[in-house]
Amino acid sequence: MSMKGQETRGFQSEVKQLLQLMIHSLYSNKEIFLRELISNASDAADKLRFRALSDAALYENNGELHVRISTDKEARTLTISDNGIGMTRDEVIDNLGTIAKSGTKSFLESIGQDQAKDSQLIGQFGVGFYSAFIVADKVTVRTRAAGESADKGVFWESEGEGDYSVADIEKADRGTEITLHLREGEDEYLDDWRLRSIISKYSDHISLPVEIETKNEEDGTVTWEKINKAQALWTRNKAEVSDEEYKEFYKHISHDFADPLSWAHNRVEGKQEYTSLLYVPSKAPWDLWNREQRHGLKLYVQRVFIMDEAEQFMPNYLRFIRGLVDSNDLPLNVSREILQDSSVTRNLRSALTKRALQMLQKLAENKPEEYQAFWKEFGLVLKEGPAEDSSNIETIAKLLRFASTHNDSDAQTVSLEDYVNRMVEGQEKIYYITADSYAAAKNSPHLELFRKKGIEVLLLSDRIDEWMMNYLTEFDGKSFQSVSKADESLDKLADEEKQAEQEETDKQLAPFVERIKTLLGDKVKDVKLTHRLTDTPAIVTTSADEMTTQMAKLFAAAGQAVPEVKYNFELNPNHPLVKQTAELTDEALFADWVNLLLDQALFAERGSLEDPNQFIRLVNQLLVQKA
Ligand code: ADP
Repeated sequence: MSMKGQETRGFQSEVKQLLQLMIHSLYSNKEIFLRELISNASDAADKLRFRALSDAALYENNGELHVRISTDKEARTLTISDNGIGMTRDEVIDNLGTIAKSGTKSFLESIGQDQAKDSQLIGQFGVGFYSAFIVADKVTVRTRAAGESADKGVFWESEGEGDYSVADIEKADRGTEITLHLREGEDEYLDDWRLRSIISKYSDHISLPVEIETKNEEDGTVTWEKINKAQALWTRNKAEVSDEEYKEFYKHISHDFADPLSWAHNRVEGKQEYTSLLYVPSKAPWDLWNREQRHGLKLYVQRVFIMDEAEQFMPNYLRFIRGLVDSNDLPLNVSREILQDSSVTRNLRSALTKRALQMLQKLAENKPEEYQAFWKEFGLVLKEGPAEDSSNIETIAKLLRFASTHNDSDAQTVSLEDYVNRMVEGQEKIYYITADSYAAAKNSPHLELFRKKGIEVLLLSDRIDEWMMNYLTEFDGKSFQSVSKADESLDKLADEEKQAEQEETDKQLAPFVERIKTLLGDKVKDVKLTHRLTDTPAIVTTSADEMTTQMAKLFAAAGQAVPEVKYNFELNPNHPLVKQTAELTDEALFADWVNLLLDQALFAERGSLEDPNQFIRLVNQLLVQKA
């Protein structure tokens, strides 16, 4: 039988992949398909209400929105039917045949069949409509967009393999009706009680009434019974909402399968009137680093859904926060453009940013282990905070976590408060080092003096760290100091009791220092002796006014012109290699040794050398001479 305008089309390859992965990974959590489909119906109702604000005719004299669930035990079908916005033929093809999110292909490829068993991975992607195929081997959709005539109905059907068919049909009622032809063994979804329990578990918090069909056995009449509370969760009193309900609501708005780590629900009255419900997810979404991906809160105005992903209400460094804001002060016809430069938006953004930071602070104080889990997922994003939001920098700084010489592992667990509490007597600054890796930071010769003195150093090795430290200048009245930069406070820390002895050595070795200066010329900025080292013969440092090595690397990696970094060459007069070099009278040999020491120091600092072959030749040559 062929229908009017019928055609068969292939699914986009991403859809095929998703269907495959989903069926293999969600077998232990099948019932969620109903949550996903009810969630879509609720979104469709939200969209209709929003469009009807400017065109009430779209209601077609029926403004009572609902989603209805019915079964046909003989045909073994389950039907979910809404009177929301509906879809046109083009929309059906776009929405139910493709996945528009950018980056989907590589994400799905990266999961692979084995990992697909981990339902969290696929869950965080948001399987939506396609989840119907977990329990159905055929899905039929009949839909008609609001505002279109009855003959503009669209039929869609697929067995969830490679293709689907679409056709034109008559559909008198606006909205979408989805019929699931249940797979063998999935008869539980025909059972009235089973359906009721799933629906109340997943749908109490949405404002759309979810109704289930009851047939009168005697006269065959059908009545619809509302079985959820059908009150938008955020409009309810905090005290009356259970944790379970908050968690379910999170899954509804975020399309995440995992529970959130934390949430904050607030109603504010007075000059500004709004309700906000913010969530911290427990897992980073798959597209957290995709800059094109929208993020932000759901915006409601006076309980009416206005838009998804209103990014104006959260700064970028909090882009992982999910949730909604319901404002009484914005106009119902607000657009993204109007939001952009409205003072109401600005005030809301500032208040919601504070709220989100507060929520993180509470998590850090009350549930440090969960905060640690949060930091692992989102720490890198939060590190953008000091640069982006100077007005909250104190609070952001308290939320940062670092690896440090105080611990043996690379885990970022040390807060600045911890650090300050452990500062030793006479220590004025917060010391840190930036490097390419944790190992490079931890083993840096710059740390020798600090080890000896028992002074903690923060070990920074994320790419963003160097950049962040440019904005983080002070915490609790103490300034930050990179240990690879020359600094007076470092010299002060060197053993004071041995000062006389040191001065004596310095005086004796002054000609040696001069001899190196003459030899190296403007290859270096300065040559000095240092008493900060124990096991290392020499290091290089940058002056306070110079770019650090890490910063220069970041610039170079970004393709920017980098001014050449001129280093101070600092030698440890107590190291045997340095002592030995100072004794050399043969000028050529002296030059070899000095260059070797300098190359070593540069190598340790930068992790690379301009001319590694030259360095290796020098080492080998000197080894042969020794042997
Ligand atoms: P998501 O909801 O995450 O966008 P889905 O795969 O669940 O992904 O749905 C894809 C799109 O299909 C939705 O964005 C929506 O535009 C449309 N859609 C799904 N269900 C309905 C429905 N019941 N009524 C109207 N449109 C729908």
